[in-house]
Formats: sequence, C-alpha cells, structure tokens
Amino acid sequence: MKKILVTGGAGFLGSHLSDRLIAEKNDVLVADNFFTGSKKNIEHLINNPFFEFIRHDVTFPLYVEVNQIYNLACPASPIHYQHDPVQTTKTSVHGAINMLGLAKRTGATILQASTSEVYGDPEIHPQTEDYWGRVNPIGIRSCYDEGKRCAETLFFDYHRQHQLQIKIVRIFNTYGPRMALNDGRVVSNFIVQALLNKDITIYGDGSQTRSFCYVDDLVDAMVSMMNSPKDVLGPINIGNPAEHSMLELAEIILKLTESKSKLVFRPLPSDDPKQRKPHIQQAKDKLRWEPKVSVHDGLKETINYFKKVLGT
Ligand code: NAD
Ligand code: UDP
Ligand code: UDP
Repeated sequence: MKKILVTGGAGFLGSHLSDRLIAEKNDVLVADNFFTGSKKNIEHLINNPFFEFIRHDVTFPLYVEVNQIYNLACPASPIHYQHDPVQTTKTSVHGAINMLGLAKRTGATILQASTSEVYGDPEIHPQTEDYWGRVNPIGIRSCYDEGKRCAETLFFDYHRQHQLQIKIVRIFNTYGPRMALNDGRVVSNFIVQALLNKDITIYGDGSQTRSFCYVDDLVDAMVSMMNSPKDVLGPINIGNPAEHSMLELAEIILKLTESKSKLVFRPLPSDDPKQRKPHIQQAKDKLRWEPKVSVHDGLKETINYFKKVLGT
C-alpha cells in the first residue's frame, strides 16, 4: 500500500484526487490550511481508516513519511489568489521548497499541479509545452503566474541537483462538482447566476476563449502522470482542447439550466488572457490519455451539483 500526501486536498481538485486514491486502496494524507478548501469536500472520507487529515500551511516545513506527493496547495481562482498576493507567491514558492525537501528526504516521487497560466497571454495557439509564455511579471495575476513558474524552476533544479523523481502537469481550466460557490471562476459564476435567474456577468465583450476539462478526466491524467515511467518528467499539458468563448459558454449554460437570466457586460480584468487551448499530443503519447467527458455532459453534472447546494 502506498502512502500518498495530497497538499491542497480539501480543495476542489484535491478532494476528487483523494477520492480516487482512496478508491484505489492507497493510504492518503491530506495537508490543507482551508484557505479556499473546505471540510465539506472531505467529510465523507474522515472516518475512512486509510484517510488522514492535517491542518497545515505548506509554507511551513512538514515532516511525514510518504512514497508520493501531489502538490496542489495554492488558491486557483483569480479573486482568491489576488486576495493576499504575497501569501500566494509564498504558497507556490516556499510550499514547493518544503515539499521538495520532503521528497528529497523520503525519496518520494513528487508531482506539481502547474497551470496554463505559465503561458500568460499567449501569442501561439494552441499552447504547446515548449512555448515559454508571455507573462507580465508585475501585474495582478503575477503572484500566481510567476509563483507557479518559479515552482516549475525549483522542481527541475531539485531534479538536476538532487536527482529527485519529479512530474509536472500544466492544468488548463478544469471544472466540476465541489467548485466553491463564491470562487469567482467563470463556470461556477455562470451556473450559480443562471440557477438563481440573476444577470450573467460577462467580463469584456466575451470573445476571450478558454478550454474546459471535466474534473474526472483531470484526475485520470494526474494519476497516470504520477505513475508514468521515470523518464517522463513533463511539463505535460492536461486539458480539454474543446475551446469556447465566454459568450458561447454563457449560452450553453443558459440552455442547460433553462434560465431566464440576461447577459450583462462588465470590465475585463487586466492581463486576462485572450485565448487559451491546450495542445495535448504529449499527454496522448506519453500518458495514453485524452479527455472523455464532453462539455455538455460535464456541465450537466456540475449544474446538478450546484442545484443541490443552492436547494433550487
Ligand atoms: P482550490 O482553491 O479549490 O484548492 C486549493 C487548495 O489548496 C484549497 O483546499 C486551499 O485551502 C489549499 N491551500 C491554499 N494555500 C495553502 C497553503 N499555504 N497551505 C496548505 N493548503 C493551502 O483550487 P483547485 O481548483 O482545486 O486547484 C488545485 C491546484 O490545481 C492548485 O495548485 C491550482 O493552481 C491548480 N490548477 C487548477 C486549475 C483549475 O482549473 N481548477 C487550473 C490550473 C491549475
Ligand atoms: N523540509 C520539510 N520536510 C522534510 C524535509 C525538509 O518540510 O521532510 C523542508 C525544510 O524545512 C527545508 C526545505 O524543505 O527548508 C528544503 O529542504 P532541503 O533539504 O532541500 O534544504 P535544506 O534543509 O538543506 O535547506
Ligand atoms: N469571466 C467572466 N465572467 C465571470 C467570471 C469570469 O466573463 O463572472 C471570464 C474571465 O474574464 C476570463 C474567463 O472568464 O476571461 C475565465 O475566468 P476564470 O476566472 O474562470 O479563469 P482564468 O481567467 O484563470 O482562466
């Protein structure tokens, strides 16, 4: 039985990942400070003898004995990571150093949840892993983007300098049940607004694009990456290449929820990337992975979840 640490395991992605790892008969330890995560996301696991939780901030050292580490601790939504930007950078950078130190001492394989934000506002489309990105180093998104870029640097330096077994996935926009209601990300915002028949807030003219991956597909990819051959380090893009403008996304959600909401237009936040779509040939070749869940099916599941949460 493997002993696996999931940092950020009380969050959206981390809790789904923990479910999967427990279902596959591993011993799972979650470390989370509940900055954006919640007890609700993991309450069904608390009495499982193979599950353990510690309230811990990854910017402080952590001494535990594990075989694998999934490093997900970091707020992911712009409003949350911009709430305390200094802490966001510390979480990515100090958090990575501590978890890499832990991997070095224990010999654990360590996987970093990196992001498509390392490409910034990209000039090439779709984004391939060899593209170095176009990131503003001093803007309001920089605490997240540069923190995640620095974490990738640390992972590769620990690999070269201390021979650590590392894995990096660059996650593109992922959605599904357990996204926080107040999270501010586009999928949760639009669904909640539609279900409550409130105005749908389109930032800018809504022509900017994103590509949305359903959480179950993402978890498959993360587990495949962790257990991939030694020479597969990444970074590997993980996402669903089906690309939609925010206007299209709003229309799909309005239809699926049969909502009466109207679209309203709000200012576009600065440095908001204009287009984003993953090139996923590496994931196909090296992980034998590609997404299976269509945006329609994934949104339906997510809408059902939010209906339950809102009691609508
Ligand atoms: P989330 O906000 O739901 O989860 C993040 C978790 O990390 C939360 O439980 C939070 O409490 C915890 N956390 C934050 N700071 C911490 C700290 N200092 N110490 C311990 N725990 C801390 O977000 P998510 O969508 O589940 O994202 C998980 C990871 O995946 C993040 O690293 C994020 O950058 C990455 N990612 C997510 C997406 C996406 O679309 N969901 C895309 C790219 C990358
Ligand atoms: N660390 C940790 N858990 C461990 C081992 C190390 O949290 O099991 C932290 C430790 O506090 C250190 C960081 O990881 O600050 C980096 O460790 P490393 O061994 O690379 O650096 P050093 O201790 O030599 O500064
Ligand atoms: N967005 C929007 N309305 C909202 C929330 C977000 O139009 O209520 C836009 C946002 O400007 C961005 C896209 O949706 O262009 C995706 O935003 P999100 O915060 O989900 O993710 P990210 O920008 O980090 O990809």
